[in-house]
Amino acid sequence: MRITAIEVYHVRYGLKDKKYAWSGGHSVTSFLSNIVKVCTDEGIHGYGEVCPLGSGYMDAYAAGVAEGVRELGPTVIGRDPTCLRALNDAMDAALGGHHYVKSPIDIACWDITGKAAGVPVATLLGGRVAESVHLYRAISQASPREMADSVARYHAEGYRRFQLKVGADPDDDVARIRAVKGVLGPGDVLVADANTGWRPHEAIRLVNAVAHDDVYIEQPCPTLEECLVVREHTTLPMVLDEVITGVVPFLRAWQSRAMDAVNIKISRVGGLTKARQIRDLCEALGVVMTIEDSWGGDVTTAAIAHLAGSTRPEFLFTSTDFNSYVDVEVSPDAPRRHEGRLPVPAGAGLGMTVDDAKLGEPVVRVGKG
Ligand SMILES: [Mg+2]
Repeated sequence: MRITAIEVYHVRYGLKDKKYAWSGGHSVTSFLSNIVKVCTDEGIHGYGEVCPLGSGYMDAYAAGVAEGVRELGPTVIGRDPTCLRALNDAMDAALGGHHYVKSPIDIACWDITGKAAGVPVATLLGGRVAESVHLYRAISQASPREMADSVARYHAEGYRRFQLKVGADPDDDVARIRAVKGVLGPGDVLVADANTGWRPHEAIRLVNAVAHDDVYIEQPCPTLEECLVVREHTTLPMVLDEVITGVVPFLRAWQSRAMDAVNIKISRVGGLTKARQIRDLCEALGVVMTIEDSWGGDVTTAAIAHLAGSTRPEFLFTSTDFNSYVDVEVSPDAPRRHEGRLPVPAGAGLGMTVDDAKLGEPVVRVGKG
């Protein structure tokens, strides 16, 4: 089988909650997502998606995907999509970095490989070991009362794990954590995610103030070194996210004993092939994981479901159903949340169909297909 064409589609998502805000005064009200379709000479198509959280959150911006695919086209066209490691090696040789451009191509080729083999991507990633996976709900930064109300509402919808967007004034963030703890029930899990928003002295003040609360602290500061300073001052479990950009940064953090959990974002590390590498290392080294992406819709959510659904359940901390946050559906049969859990598709490939009519016209098409 050979890849004959790659198409990039732009889909604009609105947020059902209208706005999503996090540290540093950042917020978004809509997202430009890129859905990438990879075509083959055997008539099998695969889909991938990358949806950056605005242009400033990580080394990615939505409009860059089309140009990146144009750049990678000559390298990818004519390749066997089922030879995923060779495909990734070739993409890395042709274009340094730009993980977010490679990620949807890689995901689409996993989709093709699964469809060709007649098995779910989860099976190819190690085995579909769960029917469904735990979800967390991200709670947009707002006043303590508003965030507590939001948690109560999503608790009623079945979520039991919550990630509060903090990383602002530490006194305000302590109030946010306390307000939310007042509406949680037994067994609920709370993560305070600063998204790199604190300096170490601010993070230290916060972890001291909530030292006796049952709360995880996620990515308090921008660098691994700053996070390590915070780590020295707390016994609260720590999650690293923004600094986990690949295998080597992950191993550096692990060797520094910097975290108890990591947040693996598929597009940040370059796709399912590389996310699986980190996932497997986490399982071997005893690090639990949130498996998700920067944002997305139906295709991203399906990719997350397959990676999470092939992860040993005891190592899966949480994952995310991004398609329940946005107001556009491109698939009639994408996995959708039920009672705070995301089903792991059992169909071949990503186990979902994409309605091409919902994608409009491609913004870029390379090759012929
Ligand atoms: Mg995070």
